[in-house]
Amino acid sequence: MRRKILFNFIIILIISSSLTGYIAYSIIKSDHLNSKEEKYISSINLIKDSIIDDSSSFSNLNFFDKAQKYSNLTLSRVTFIGIDGIPIADSHNNSIIFDNLSFSLGINNAINNQSKVFYEYSKEMGGKYYYYADMLEFQDNESIIIRIGESVDNTDKLVEKLLTYLLFSILSSIVIAIIISFGTIENLVKPLKELSEASKFVAAGDFSHTIDINSDDEIGELTASFNSMILELNEYIKSINEVERMRKDFVSNVSHELKTPLTSILGFIETLRIEGIGNEIRIKALDIIETESLRLEEMIEKLLVLSKIESRDDNKDLVKVDISRVIKDVLEVLTPQIKEKNIEVSLDIGFLDATIKGNEFLLKSVMMNLIENSIKFNRDNGKVEISILEYDNSFGVVVKDNGIGIPSDKLDKIFERFYRVDNIRNITKGSGLGLAITKHIVMGLDGTIEVESSTKTGSVFKLEFPKA
Ligand code: ADP
Repeated sequence: MRRKILFNFIIILIISSSLTGYIAYSIIKSDHLNSKEEKYISSINLIKDSIIDDSSSFSNLNFFDKAQKYSNLTLSRVTFIGIDGIPIADSHNNSIIFDNLSFSLGINNAINNQSKVFYEYSKEMGGKYYYYADMLEFQDNESIIIRIGESVDNTDKLVEKLLTYLLFSILSSIVIAIIISFGTIENLVKPLKELSEASKFVAAGDFSHTIDINSDDEIGELTASFNSMILELNEYIKSINEVERMRKDFVSNVSHELKTPLTSILGFIETLRIEGIGNEIRIKALDIIETESLRLEEMIEKLLVLSKIESRDDNKDLVKVDISRVIKDVLEVLTPQIKEKNIEVSLDIGFLDATIKGNEFLLKSVMMNLIENSIKFNRDNGKVEISILEYDNSFGVVVKDNGIGIPSDKLDKIFERFYRVDNIRNITKGSGLGLAITKHIVMGLDGTIEVESSTKTGSVFKLEFPKA
């Protein structure tokens, strides 16, 4: 990757530098030629005027003299050439008159009245020359070509020097740019390399590697996203482990809780086997077997409810449920228990339409647990007051009893699975799962549950659900 970027970068640099160099060189060169042309035109015009002034006829002229004279005057090589291309006189080299220059493009241009600066190798002078040629017509219809020449060696020194400077500056800027780009590319590639290394760890299932964020550009953003992905994965794995741990705990708790009543049942069956036990002991044993069996039954029932809750996708079948109707249904089911203990139940609904978003089965479970507890943990002739309250965005349900209450040091434990205060208080019924299930459901419906209790006045359970 680094090599690729560097290679492309150098190619771009070389192309752009060469282009800039070429354009600069062309501008300088054409400027140089333009200024030369101006100079040559004025020199040729000067020569023309001066020749016409001296003589209007071709035959009267001494071209050798003139060539010398104008050469000194214009500081350049002056050649007179016939229109047949044969040189007549030259200020610098007399041997030229034996040559024929009719092949020269510059001379042909002059004959065709298209004079411009041209550049040719001069055989006689043994070097490159800039030339400018123009035609002069005499009154006697004779014509000659006047050519001005200047050695390239002398005139191009400046351009050459400029070109050298240009090349030098282009080369040094390429070197500097490469050195700088090495650093820049390194900064660019390093975090990507780190990302790729860290991704390999993730692919191998190791989520402990995060990357330091050193920039606030796109790469920095990518690194930050990568880090937050790692954090989320860690959280996810943690929660999976936690759920797994809870499940294991739950299974071992369930086994333990089921085993206790069974052990007691088996023990009392053994007692019954003993021959000649008294009637009193027999009845007591049967009572205990019955209570423990009922407890086992209740526990299994609640465990079934729990598994039902956990296996359903609650959010999918949430509907509007009238909570007052649910309470009335529950009270009907509980009528035998209420009558048995002669409990005075009051229901204060206040208004008719108390609909919350929930699920009939789940809400019935909640109300059943709370109202059943308020009867179960009550004394004979006790009281249960149920009321529904309306708040701005929610409905409250309060279940209040004047029963045996919960000691304050046990209050924070009653929502735990299998926790029963009455273990010690000699009330045998109950699985210890009811309130755990209740809290689980209430939280799932975005509701809240609170408890206030004292062994003197009884317990108050307060629920709140958002309005439908
Ligand atoms: P259980 O199946 O034993 O009723 P719960 O989870 O419903 O289990 O309740 C846990 C414990 O909290 C109960 O064993 C009981 O000791 C106590 N408790 C619950 N509700 C009341 C109440 N209204 N009055 C007194 N104690 C209560």
